[in-house]
Formats: sequence, C-alpha cells, structure tokens
Amino acid sequence: MTNPNAELSPAYQTILKVIAQVEPRIAQATRDELTDQRASLKLIASENYASLPVLATMGTWFSDKYAEGTIGHRFYAGCQNVDTVESVAAEHARELFGAEYAYAQPHSGIDANLTAFWAILAQRVEQPRLAELGRKQVNELTEQEWESLRRSFGEQRLMGMSLDAGGHLTHGFRPNISGKMFHQRSYGTDPESQLLDYDAVREQVKEFKPLVLVAGYSAYPRRINFATMREIADEVGATLMVDMAHFAGLVAGKVFTGDEDPVPHAHVVTTTTHKSLRGPRGGLVLATEEYASSVDRGCPLVLGGPLSHMMAAKAVALAEARTADFRTYAQNVADNAKTLAEGLMKRGTKLVTGGTDNHLVLIDTTSFGLTGRQSESALLDAGVVTNRNSVPNDPNGAWYTSGVRIGTPALTSRGFGADEFDKVAELIVEVLSNTEPVTASTGKPGKAKYQLADGVADRVKAQSAELLDKHPLYPGLELS
Ligand code: PLP
Repeated sequence: MTNPNAELSPAYQTILKVIAQVEPRIAQATRDELTDQRASLKLIASENYASLPVLATMGTWFSDKYAEGTIGHRFYAGCQNVDTVESVAAEHARELFGAEYAYAQPHSGIDANLTAFWAILAQRVEQPRLAELGRKQVNELTEQEWESLRRSFGEQRLMGMSLDAGGHLTHGFRPNISGKMFHQRSYGTDPESQLLDYDAVREQVKEFKPLVLVAGYSAYPRRINFATMREIADEVGATLMVDMAHFAGLVAGKVFTGDEDPVPHAHVVTTTTHKSLRGPRGGLVLATEEYASSVDRGCPLVLGGPLSHMMAAKAVALAEARTADFRTYAQNVADNAKTLAEGLMKRGTKLVTGGTDNHLVLIDTTSFGLTGRQSESALLDAGVVTNRNSVPNDPNGAWYTSGVRIGTPALTSRGFGADEFDKVAELIVEVLSNTEPVTASTGKPGKAKYQLADGVADRVKAQSAELLDKHPLYPGLELS
C-alpha cells in the first residue's frame, strides 16, 4: 500500500496555499501547529494523532449540510448522502464494539454524556409517566401533568466517581450541568491503595439508590470490572452508564475484554472518538435496544444539528480501528504505559495507585516537592507536554493540584516502544528533580512559580529531539 501521507502531501500544500490567499494567519498557524506537534513529546493522556485520511475527511462540503433528525427521518430535504455517512459510522461502531445500537451524532464527549443522561431520563421517568397517564407524547399532557413530570426529572439521583479520584466533571460535579440536573453523590477510591473498592461502592449505592450509576474516568490509572459494577447497579435497579472516553481505544483494540469491556455489561456507553480511539474530535453513544429509541432522539432534543463531515471522519477512524494493526497499536499503548510507570518508579517517582494497567499514569508530584502546576510548567519548558491533575484528597485543590497526568496513546501512534518510553521516564525525572518551588511574595510556599536548573531544558529537548526524529509525525508529509 502506498504511503497516504506522501500521497496527500501535495494536496495539503495546495490547500494551505489557497487558505493563505484568504487569511494568511490561519494558514501560517496551521503550519506552525504541525511544526510544534512534530517537535514536542506529547504525553497528554487524552490526545492522539488521527491519521491523515481521517483529518482529510473532515474538510469537505458535508459541513454545509443541515441534517437534524436521524437516519431516514430528517427535518431537512436532500440528506441521502448524510444518511449513508451516518449509517456507515453507526455500523462500524456497532460491529467494532459489539453494541446493539450506536449513535454517531454527538459533537464531543460532553455532548455524548448529555445525550445519554436525557435518554435515560426519557426512558426511566418520562415514558413510564406517559404510559401511566395514557398519553403518547408530552405535548398531550395538561399543564398540571407536565409540571409534575418536569419536576420529577429534577428529583432523580446520579452517582459517579469523584473528580479527585479520577472521575469526569460531567459525572455529577456540582458546577457542571450534570450536578444540577441530578441529586448527586460520588464514590471515591480506597484511601490506602487508591484503588476502587467495590464493596464500598456497593454500600454507597445501596444507601443512595441512584437512578443512574456512572462508571468511567479521566484520570484513574486502572481497569474497572464492569460486570461487578452492573451487579451493583442491578441491586438497586439503577441504569449503568459507562463513560469510556479515555479507554475506548483499548476496548476497540480488544485489550479490555470480558469483565473489563463495558459494552456487554452497561445499559448505555458513551465515548469520545479522539482520545485512545484515534479518530476525529467527537462522541458516540452505544446502547442496548431498550434505550435505543430515546438515544436516537438526541438531535434536536439535546444536540445541535449533526456535523456530517465529522461523522464521516468518525466512520473512517472506526474502519481503521477494526483492523489488526489497530489491535497491535492498542496493546502497545497498554504495554508502553507499564514501561513508562516502571521507568518512573525505579527512578523514585511516586505514582497514584502505584502503577497502571491502562493507558495513563498519574504522577504524585509531592514526591518532588512540587505542585502539579509547577511540574506541568517545568516539563513544558523542556518540551514535554503534559497536564496537571488532582490526586485523591489533593491538598492543593483542582487548580494547582498535586499531580501530573501522562499517557501513551499519542507517542505510541508515532511508533515509540519500550526503549523510548523508558527514556521518556528518565527525561521526566530529570526535569522534575531539577525543579525547585519558588516561595511566593506572601512568604507562603509558592504553588505556581518554580525554578528549573540551568541547562536542563536544553539538554532534555536535545534528547527528546533524537527520539522524535527517529519516529516522525506523518512521515512523508512535506509542507514546503
Ligand atoms: N468524558 C471523559 C471521561 C473525559 O475524560 C472527557 C474529556 O476530557 C470527556 C468526557 C469530554 O470530552 P469532550 O472534551 O470531547 O467533550
């Protein structure tokens, strides 16, 4: 097979030339972004590099078409090609994940979660109430009946993993809309092991009796037993919703199987398509038949009109994720995370939960006497791109934090293996152990300022450049 990057190279050169004639600053920023991404060690656990065929699929006239509604039932005329795109994306998602139903419209992970929440409320609260009242639609309700139904939406309960244990803000965090839609309580992790304690979760669930039990995470470096989570949900009649945004690539690549695969166990599964799944920015909802018709009404009841060009790119990425190459990639992501964790620990770094068995590692930066913010900034000075993150019971709060989250999906896409990730661990430790916190002007220990020892940034950048040069991003793509 020819190299698609080389084949697309002249096309991208032309595209940038044409864009420059309209707005040269955007053409230049697009070039600069590629240069920057090529030259940095991208360790942000939620990022990746989509293939050029996926990226190219986004830039088409499908962007110009309105297509509210769903496949074959649109509120606009002329959607036959959008129907093809959405059908292919949904078909790949169903087959890849073994799901009964797939909805390819959500514009992002947060939109996928909102769609799922409203679908669960529709299925569990609205439909039974309508049936009880002998009505088919909410529009047929009297003012009084509608008001009583509307209020009962706000009386429902949701339980998800707490933010500082690794949950996502859409899992019921009060400032997020999910914390306002539902009465919310969260479960954390064991204070000693920092691992999920299923017995403790079970106790909390039995006491709180949520309508929705959410499993999934943004910053928990371990696998989850979804069969056990389903058993717990069933004990109180809760709907189990799994947000697999972070680890969808490991599910797609069959690294997480059996009890670790959420799809056979959850009623509803949401995901992003751009993290470990390596697709375009976007979301998906997978569901059992029972929830399918409610999820299918996502647009226009929850979501804006579908982004058909993005659904097309999701279809291409999902086709890629069904290949043997992608399975190898997913296994490498998990193996590389283990190597990275071991490389950090053998050099004295403390990790939340003492390791990883997924695609991410959470460094407890207090072992270097630094906040997450100081660590993130010092690493960035040395060309290592990470993001700060809370650790369980974080003494420095959600802004400064005491952790740095790193992940292997992006650099594994560039071809980094065990040797390279051990070197990455060495470089991270070199930066953090040569960084000192700087006391704030108030005399209190500073949480943002830091001093990186002279020469370290340049030394680390030079060593990173050697690794990056060996594994170029989009080899064959030349922008003159
Ligand atoms: N769910 C989880 C678990 C996430 O980690 C994220 C993103 O960080 C999201 C949802 C939101 O995804 P998006 O940024 O695409 O809305």
